[in-house]
Amino acid sequence: MWDWVFPPLCASCAAPLLPEEKEVCLRCLLRLPQTLFWRNPTHNEAYYRLAPHAPTLHGAISGFWYVEGSPLRRWVQLAKYHNQPEALYGAAYFLGSLLRQEGIVPFPSWKALLAVPISEARLRRRGYNQAEWAARGLAQALEVPLLTGRWRRQHATTSQVAKGRIQRWTSMEGEFICVGPIPSPVAVVDDVLTTGATLSAALQSLPPETHVWVVTVGITQRRR
Ligand SMILES: [Zn+2]
Repeated sequence: MWDWVFPPLCASCAAPLLPEEKEVCLRCLLRLPQTLFWRNPTHNEAYYRLAPHAPTLHGAISGFWYVEGSPLRRWVQLAKYHNQPEALYGAAYFLGSLLRQEGIVPFPSWKALLAVPISEARLRRRGYNQAEWAARGLAQALEVPLLTGRWRRQHATTSQVAKGRIQRWTSMEGEFICVGPIPSPVAVVDDVLTTGATLSAALQSLPPETHVWVVTVGITQRRR
């Protein structure tokens, strides 16, 4: 009834949403540059960035290129700094639908999704973990449960933007800690894959026998 009187609006362009659209309209979603990594989960840029540091990685998928001109740039900023994670959720839900359609990624075997945690301090400041919003969108599209409260990030690092690459890698050791049993296979979800330092440190903290997949909504292009 209320949806008819006040239809939900696209979190990006504010157009009224159709009943099958989640948070973002299809018109906006189709502006995202797709990577097509889901067609080749062990031969793509996301996998190459993570695999050398994550021996138990079984596949990695990033949905969309995180580049200048892509609406995803704004959606991630909205989620991180403006208290509006809905568009990121919509992009993750869309990625989940693409995985379903293609049917190559064996997500029906995944026992759970896990969002890469952020520190307690950042969680308090932001009010939520944006990676968890991405994981929620995927969980809904894939019908795989999202597991929370099993994984923690121990301390806030100073802004990573200011750090060099080497320093960034070494500063993350021991930052993530498991505080509960982790099922296997499990898919670890984050909003954007950049150097892979954060995700690699996170993966190394999981029990070594865990069969791991990684899914991120965005991926940066490699700096040349
Ligand atoms: Zn829109």
